[in-house]
Amino acid sequence: MNDIFSKIVRGELPCHKVAEDDQTLAFLDINPAAQGHTLVIPKRFGTDIFDTNPEDLAAVARMVQTVAQLLLQTLKPDGINVLQNSRPASGQVVFYYHVHVIPRWEGDGVFSFWRPNPTDHAVFAALAERLRANNQA
Ligand code: AMP
Repeated sequence: MNDIFSKIVRGELPCHKVAEDDQTLAFLDINPAAQGHTLVIPKRFGTDIFDTNPEDLAAVARMVQTVAQLLLQTLKPDGINVLQNSRPASGQVVFYYHVHVIPRWEGDGVFSFWRPNPTDHAVFAALAERLRANNQA
């Protein structure tokens, strides 16, 4: 693979490593939303949430918790956002699965995600039914 994060995993491009295990790598985001903004990636390539191996998703989730605890102990943020973008409409620009771990401080104004949309219960019921009908698990 010729993308940026594959090159980081292979050591062909530098990164500021925060933590590592057999399956995952955590490093500082080069254009941080806040001090300590860290990316966690699987060492095995996946594009996004849809095609990344479930075992790698689980390993990344464990490393996200480790990184969150490191950030909490080290930088003493008031909170942490965990964020994953899949596909361009969501904001994904690097097409190698990664999870953002972003320390937050009260009133930092870094971002807010969405405005709530009050919705009728009948609409919820129909949507939940459609989703359950498509669940093959
Ligand atoms: P996303 O919008 O979820 O695809 O986010 C991609 C993230 O990767 C951005 O926050 C970038 O700042 C970050 N990024 C891109 N190249 C590098 C790099 N070489 N090292 C660290 N972070 C990077």
